[in-house]
Amino acid sequence: MSQPLQRTGECHSCGECCKTVNMTVVRDVTLQQHGSLEELELYLSYRGIRVVGSDEKSNQLHYSMDVPCSELTPDNQCRVHDSPKKPLICLRFPSSKEDVEDTPNCGYNFQAVRHKISNQ
Ligand code: SF4
Ligand code: SF4
Repeated sequence: MSQPLQRTGECHSCGECCKTVNMTVVRDVTLQQHGSLEELELYLSYRGIRVVGSDEKSNQLHYSMDVPCSELTPDNQCRVHDSPKKPLICLRFPSSKEDVEDTPNCGYNFQAVRHKISNQ
């Protein structure tokens, strides 16, 4: 059984998570359409899309593309922070270890929860 992870750290406004859009697609169907991973990568590269992950077990491919959010200011502040216009995914980010894998400079980490041992 996997150990529960707890989020630690804080946002230091690097803005990295606001500059890309990540997508997940069905791996086997997509590779069948394109013939191979290399062919798919070539096709997507002309559109500025990178394949950043390929998981045979979950049958998923992960894409990333550089599309900065229109609500990000030049000094990496969110214009809709603390407002109902802030998207849910932004409010929750990062919600898992996988979320910060592509943003190594993120101020958040995920660490295993330590359980206290009772003496009673
Ligand atoms: S809405 Fe705010 S937090 Fe969400 S991506 Fe845009 S700038 Fe970043
Ligand atoms: S990548 Fe992490 S530290 Fe940087 S803006 Fe996003 S949440 Fe904040």
